[in-house]
Amino acid sequence: MSKPRKTIKKPLKVLFAASEAYPLIKTGGLGDVAHSLPNALAHVGLDVRLVLPAYRDVLRRVEDLQVLGWIPLGDGLDARILQGWHAAFEMPLWLVDIAHLFDREGNPYQGPDGNNWPDNPQRFTRFSQAVALLAADRLDAGWQADVVHANDWQTGLVPAWLHETATPPRCIYTIHNLAYDGQFDYATFQAMHLPPAWWSIDGAEFHGNLSPMKAGLIYSDWITTVSPTYAREIQTPEYGYGYADILRHQQHKLRGILNGIDTRTWDPTTDRHIAAHYRCDDQLAQGKAANRRALLKALGAPTKAQRADAPVIGFVGRLVHQKGIDLLFDAIPALLRNTLVRFAIIGSGEQQYEERLKALMAQYPARVFGYLGYSEALAHQLEAGADIFAMPSRYEPCGLNQMYSLRYGTPPVARRTGGLADTVVDSTPTTLKDGSATGFLFDAPESAALEAALRRALVLHQNPTLWHQIQCAGMAQDLDWDERARSYLALYQGAPTAEGEQQ
Ligand code: ADP
Repeated sequence: MSKPRKTIKKPLKVLFAASEAYPLIKTGGLGDVAHSLPNALAHVGLDVRLVLPAYRDVLRRVEDLQVLGWIPLGDGLDARILQGWHAAFEMPLWLVDIAHLFDREGNPYQGPDGNNWPDNPQRFTRFSQAVALLAADRLDAGWQADVVHANDWQTGLVPAWLHETATPPRCIYTIHNLAYDGQFDYATFQAMHLPPAWWSIDGAEFHGNLSPMKAGLIYSDWITTVSPTYAREIQTPEYGYGYADILRHQQHKLRGILNGIDTRTWDPTTDRHIAAHYRCDDQLAQGKAANRRALLKALGAPTKAQRADAPVIGFVGRLVHQKGIDLLFDAIPALLRNTLVRFAIIGSGEQQYEERLKALMAQYPARVFGYLGYSEALAHQLEAGADIFAMPSRYEPCGLNQMYSLRYGTPPVARRTGGLADTVVDSTPTTLKDGSATGFLFDAPESAALEAALRRALVLHQNPTLWHQIQCAGMAQDLDWDERARSYLALYQGAPTAEGEQQ
């Protein structure tokens, strides 16, 4: 009898495609996910490559660059493929270098005028095409992807390009924000000589335009989004941005998998940005107070305000309608009138909201503090130094800041939507009694509802025992990526092949 052969299981090869990844280039939550998730996938034993456009900022930060080869994209255009390394990533980074599309200063999506780069359709169509060809080992480098994971509209055409290849790998497409879909018109579609079949109601055509987001939904094997609640919400007209019917139709392949956070970067016991390290013990209140003083100082508060004990309500994020920042601005004057609370707000975004923040800071110089701009260090200092975190988003696919707040003992006051509903446990008599309460939720997207929830938080803040309990319940929550990476792994292994069979 011959001995059974020992089978060596080869790790799944995963090509993870994104248009931004912290700390190389980041504008929001996608950048955080494209850093943490590929690393977590590598931890669970997968053979991962992260592929990004070779933006100028990325080229500056990546080390040991080498040319892997060139991939022809048609019309005389070649993508040079570079490989590099960075200490924050456990896998090689592949960069799609098409100099006239990506080698420029600044934001990956917008020019210095704040408008989208006019050639975004070409930039991300060609990036997606190169990703699909890389997955098929067009470089002949001996690495062929078993799974391609595309993210948001910028890589929405990856599954469509894969559809054009003979034996496509499985493709997972993750929606991080359905509101941005990257549409372009027919003339642009024609000028790029894209596959005519895409321009169809069953393809990527969407109300007379080409929608990369729709391509992602239609041509992928699995669609995921970043929280179970958002997965349900986007199938309704209110949250569906015109895609609700399509998503309902694709329900069989839609899953909500909650994002995690990078618990090493966001850890109040080791955070290099904050004034005092702390944990959930009897020194917690002192640790938070030291960070509050440091935060107020960093934001330029007058000395007397820095020393005061009154709680600080914090906000970090893009100053845009989605984030409900107007609801917070509307609630501030009433809260200032009959409480001692102060506000610390960090963000940048639409001019009208930036002006409004400046006006509030000018009107209440001893009680409203802010920073207009992007600062990673200040974001950490705010999470540590604020007592309460406000997150009144109108919609929130997952949201990261409420999770950072939970971890930093800064109970969030959030709207019951998307990932906020899935990560924050509202303080009610029942949840306070059983110890599960971690924050405060409200429903109506109105400033009065936010104000009422903030007042509930302020009342509980005056009860040190209960407040400590709420803080520690949040700090103990498992927000790590490892478990979530396993959910993706299950999908990678069980995702139907192009032929549709279940494996
Ligand atoms: P979104 O992706 O919709 O912007 P998320 O809450 O998912 O919202 O992620 C936002 C990320 O960007 C968080 O890591 C947050 O700390 C960060 N961020 C947003 N605005 C700023 C800012 N002005 N300064 C520093 N970090 C910011």
